[in-house]
Amino acid sequence: MSTVTQLISVAEAQRLVLERAKRLDTERVPVERAAGRVLAEEASSLVDLPPFASSAMDGFAVRAEDAGAGARLPVVARIAAGSPADRELAAGEAMAISTGGSVPDGADSVIPLELVDDSGDSIEIREPVHAGANVRERGSDVRTGDVVLEPGIRLGPAQVGALAAAGVHEVQCAKRPRVGILVTGSELKQPGEPLGPGEIYESNGLLLATALQLAGAVPAQLGAVGDDSDELERAMERALLGFDMLVTSGGASVGPHDLVRETQAGLRVEEVFWGVAVKPGKPVAFGTRRDHLVFNLPGNPVSVLVTFELFVRPAVNALLGLPEPEPAFRRGALAAPMRRNAERDQYIRARSRPEGDEVVLEPIAGQESHMIARAGRADALIEVKAGPGELAAGAPVRYLAI
Ligand code: AMP
Ligand code: MG
Repeated sequence: MSTVTQLISVAEAQRLVLERAKRLDTERVPVERAAGRVLAEEASSLVDLPPFASSAMDGFAVRAEDAGAGARLPVVARIAAGSPADRELAAGEAMAISTGGSVPDGADSVIPLELVDDSGDSIEIREPVHAGANVRERGSDVRTGDVVLEPGIRLGPAQVGALAAAGVHEVQCAKRPRVGILVTGSELKQPGEPLGPGEIYESNGLLLATALQLAGAVPAQLGAVGDDSDELERAMERALLGFDMLVTSGGASVGPHDLVRETQAGLRVEEVFWGVAVKPGKPVAFGTRRDHLVFNLPGNPVSVLVTFELFVRPAVNALLGLPEPEPAFRRGALAAPMRRNAERDQYIRARSRPEGDEVVLEPIAGQESHMIARAGRADALIEVKAGPGELAAGAPVRYLAI
């Protein structure tokens, strides 16, 4: 197979991926299992929230006009959250009420405990309040039938809290993408086994499974296959069934043992691109078989980390139905000068730290694509666009949080 000659840009490669990554079918999901899922249909409130006028304070429900400074009012009932009064408040009366208690008909305000002298069966007002004070109006948060959340939002703590408060117990979400992970290389051993001559520990499978899981997909590690055409063909044939996406690592470059691309071509995977102007990650390939997306990532673990963020995560985001699936760049400043690469965009592993209003990015020592142990200290990937010369210390850059 020829060398990678025509490199396409990162942006072009992302466009080609996202053109083919369509939102999956949807399913009903109970809210208690919806964390991290993406809403596919709007969710509307089943109740007025709050469902009744409720007290914002511990105090006394009164009519403001009866409760001027110095007024003395009898306490005719005690209202707790969940236990409303059994009658209206009449003129000249007070009812003790706790936060969240149902403000009785007839009352228009709540005087906080601290503003009265309480002698048990009556209170004397020290400081008056205006009508409406400390009363949460029925429906002041949301009304029955109003939209609580729009489609395309990823459900985190605030969102599932909002749904539960609105009485919603099930939502319609995109299915989670099922992703098969196949790592290739005859040198790979699982951690826990002793290494023989020429062998290394397999790390890409776990790296990818973790990244996919956190991205909202359902990963399945399909094991490691040696660099052998027959073995690879059998494994890939199985891996192309029953998943929405297949991610391979290794064997996608130009060496005599790099058999992944030619093997999958025989299995009717149509290659969309091979070779992107990115460092690390140049030999990354992408193809499809029907609706099935296939990513061939390089073998070097740091290349896997970078190409996952640039190409695989956006595809997962799109399958989940996120409206902005592209990588979520943030802005920071370089701590040290960086030499640019003439042809390829680089993604530099770095540590971020706040400095005033800025995020400053310190590249870690050791930027070679096999140096995954060093990359383990990084929390950012700095984008250094291709071009001549270098970027000065302090230069503004974009980065991805990892
Ligand atoms: P390849 O893309 O197959 O030429 O592999 C590039 C480099 O990555 C080689 O040094 C491989 O040993 C290494 N490598 C490949 N697969 C893995 C893996 N799953 N875990 C760790 N290193 C790997
Ligand atoms: Mg290999």
